Amino acid sequence: MAIENTLSIIKPDATRRNLTGAINSYFEKQGLQIVAQKRLQLTKAMAERFYEVHKARPFYNDLVNFMISAPVVVQVLRGENAVLKNREIMGATNPADAAAGTIRKDFAESVEANSVHGSDSADNAAKEIAFFFAEIELTL
Ligand code: ADP
Ligand code: MG
Repeated sequence: MAIENTLSIIKPDATRRNLTGAINSYFEKQGLQIVAQKRLQLTKAMAERFYEVHKARPFYNDLVNFMISAPVVVQVLRGENAVLKNREIMGATNPADAAAGTIRKDFAESVEANSVHGSDSADNAAKEIAFFFAEIELTL
């Protein structure tokens, strides 16, 4: 198994409820290191570009508006198999389907306001990390 980086976003429903630290403890307790992190307010243009792959989906406009409704925390998580491991820590997209002990089971409000984003492949992780972070921000 290789050490990987993956992009995580703590979404507006979670920052609004002051859950950044509570969510970060799920990553750290399960062996992922937070190697870069910043809180920012997405613009509409940034949110549209980040979720461009979902442009044709019926929930796209609502999703973009949700993602700009409060600040987000973007972060790079690192560890063994980090992409897949983070998807396991997050749980299923719909919290109704998420396993016990996952972030989405414990915190998500709905299928849209589901507290976290995580890259779904190593290729997408590289693209998503480059979207938010400069090389110099990625600590060893
Ligand atoms: P994931 O975040 O688990 O990778 P997707 O990439 O399929 O899920 O969807 C991106 C985001 O779009 C989800 O995390 C969620 O916020 C939102 N979303 C997905 N499906 C729906 C839906 N059926 N209704 C409303 N929002 C949705
Ligand atoms: Mg996805």
